[in-house]
Amino acid sequence: MTLPAGATIGIVGGGQLGRMLAMAAARLGYRTIVLEPHADCPAAATCHRHIEAAYDDRAALGELGNACDVVTYEFENVPVDAVRALEGKVAVYPPPTALDAAQDRLAEKDFLNGAGLATAPYRAVDNDADLSAALQEFGGDGVLKTRRLGYDGKGQRVFRRAGDADIVGVFAEMGGVPLILEGFVAFEREISVIAARGRDGTISAYDPAENVHRDGILRSSTVPARISPATAHAAREAASAILNALDYVGVIGVEFFVLGDGSLIVNEIAPRVHNSGHWTEAACPVSQFEQHIRAVAGLPLGVTRRHSDCVMENLVGDEVLAAPKLLEEANLVLHLYGKAEARPGRKMGHFTRLKPKG
Ligand code: AMP
Repeated sequence: MTLPAGATIGIVGGGQLGRMLAMAAARLGYRTIVLEPHADCPAAATCHRHIEAAYDDRAALGELGNACDVVTYEFENVPVDAVRALEGKVAVYPPPTALDAAQDRLAEKDFLNGAGLATAPYRAVDNDADLSAALQEFGGDGVLKTRRLGYDGKGQRVFRRAGDADIVGVFAEMGGVPLILEGFVAFEREISVIAARGRDGTISAYDPAENVHRDGILRSSTVPARISPATAHAAREAASAILNALDYVGVIGVEFFVLGDGSLIVNEIAPRVHNSGHWTEAACPVSQFEQHIRAVAGLPLGVTRRHSDCVMENLVGDEVLAAPKLLEEANLVLHLYGKAEARPGRKMGHFTRLKPKG
């Protein structure tokens, strides 16, 4: 059933993604309730109501479920058990199976390979001996990552031509938690596809964006990406295969490495709206945020056509001080997240420079 205007959508997580989802929901006539432990969170300013509680607080989740017609989330590290418990009360989209696939890098790669998609080679690492064996297999090169709770490059270490001397004590230094070693991918560029699947199984995808990361943090997304039509097609097809395999409802972000021959390797999936899709807010009639709200509300998906080429850049830490200057530019769409403190590495906002066609 389609959610009528005036219905209430619950959002677990109150960061900038929740903030922008709540804004998009409001434009479609919905109310939103955000569950988030931080009082001063970015979404608090744009939602109808804020339940200040931990993501796994059963009582608070129950309250959210009772007060909402549908529940969604803005980040992938919501405890799956807590979401499953909610499911008995209220519709939850995307499905928790997507969280299972996205929360653990080992399960994610198993899932992707099972869906017929290429990933970097990988090995589970649970001690220094595993790491030594895996690095040897990969010729001394690889990226070691925590299996769970890694984001923005946190919990990662790169090895180049590493020998046993380089790995002594690394498992403990990484926190003694389950790890994964990925083979190092010599990619030409990184792209992502933001795609959506409606409750009726309809799928739509935006044009792939070309992404630049620095210190593990996304810095810019450029559209169009410098890839062939065949590579763009393959990226959309891969996103579709993932959405169907998960019987997904909502927006997903799929990140890829593009190799020299144009072939693709899936890096990771994010079962939510994604930073590399922020450009859609400025360059498309229907943004990724509205698309997600449409999907979970059972509305028809929007057209993903882009009216302009564009470059989205994140404002990280002090870079946010440039905001007044940026506002002087024509064809620039600025979005600040209302965060009080510009700590280093913290995403404070983003802007999209549009390059209108002709
Ligand atoms: P992730 O958090 O897994 O998205 O990794 C952050 C960034 O590190 C990626 O966007 C890449 O730029 C780089 N990276 C991650 N994994 C690999 C890999 N297996 N090979 C080469 N670069 C990688």
